[in-house]
Amino acid sequence: MKYMINNWKLISGLFLLLLISSFPASALEKAVPKNIILLIGDGMGIAQITAGKIVKKHLNLEEFKQLGLLMTHSGNALVTDSAASGTAMATGYKTDNKAISVSHDDEPLKTVIEYAQEVNKVTGLVVTSSITHATPAVFAAHVKSRKNQTLIAEQLSKSGVDVLLGGGWGYFVPNTTKGSFRNDHKNLLVELAEHTIVIQTEKEFNELGDVDSVVGLFARKALPGADQRSPGLSEMTQKAIQILSKNQKGFFLMVEGSQIDWAGHDNDADGIIREMIDFDNAIGIALDFAKNNNETLVLVTADHETGGFAIHDGSVTKQQITETQFTQSDHTAEMVPVFAYGPGASDFTGIGDNTKIGKLLIHYLQIHPLK
Ligand code: MG
Ligand code: ZN
Repeated sequence: MKYMINNWKLISGLFLLLLISSFPASALEKAVPKNIILLIGDGMGIAQITAGKIVKKHLNLEEFKQLGLLMTHSGNALVTDSAASGTAMATGYKTDNKAISVSHDDEPLKTVIEYAQEVNKVTGLVVTSSITHATPAVFAAHVKSRKNQTLIAEQLSKSGVDVLLGGGWGYFVPNTTKGSFRNDHKNLLVELAEHTIVIQTEKEFNELGDVDSVVGLFARKALPGADQRSPGLSEMTQKAIQILSKNQKGFFLMVEGSQIDWAGHDNDADGIIREMIDFDNAIGIALDFAKNNNETLVLVTADHETGGFAIHDGSVTKQQITETQFTQSDHTAEMVPVFAYGPGASDFTGIGDNTKIGKLLIHYLQIHPLK
């Protein structure tokens, strides 16, 4: 009898071994995305998302099944700014407010875009602010103060980021050009045009052919608000994915709904709703791509909440918000949500810190070195 049991154990053990070895190796390894699309709603807390859902009824965000919460405090303050929290997401490290991917001691912190370039992935930044603003800047520049946007423009020009779409041409043109924010003669658009396509109008955007890279700056500073800008965030996101997804080795794209934050600073509930819905439309573009491509991780998160926004009255059936309040006009320390879809998505569930975004994205890039 004893012999029988041992034999049975041996047989079942062999069976298990056979089962494991018949699995493809990749199925047993942890899921690693080939493409990463990180969408950041600047100032997008739970109330901003709720407001968007009440008015839009259904959000693309609802397609995400893996959710987490992130602490956002910076290296030197409980309430972060977009530079410090952006740095946490771009590099995996906490830094002081105003710092653009440099440490407290002003040492450069390597960004997810720099890691992506090392493994021959193509990269992109798409925003509705100036492209030199804190959130995009942290991904490809290293500057002590976010205010130094002319230096950020110089670093972005040399960064090798394949797709840059947003506003801010004023930071790239010489002081002899009307509308320039520079105090030198540098013409970064001319320098960029030596190795990429530079466009500044909606017409050029719409007529853009089959290109591998593009710099599109459609306003002197920020783009207009959600109902006025053209190209819009969704169109720019679509274009960026179309260009970047041609690369066999994958891509990293950051898309920012930059102006949810600004409406929060202005205590403008209608503005929050407009920008939130516009951002959700861009999320839909990223999700549509990921649904047809099982190698793409889509992450949606915020750098912090803005305004201490609260919804006090309205109606779900009428898709209407009638009463809101703000605690102040600056950022708050509340945790922000992170929504994840695709390979690696389950890594983002639970309560964590915003550095988790940078750490995990860099980890994926290092264990997936397609050359
Ligand atoms: Mg921003
Ligand atoms: Zn802000």
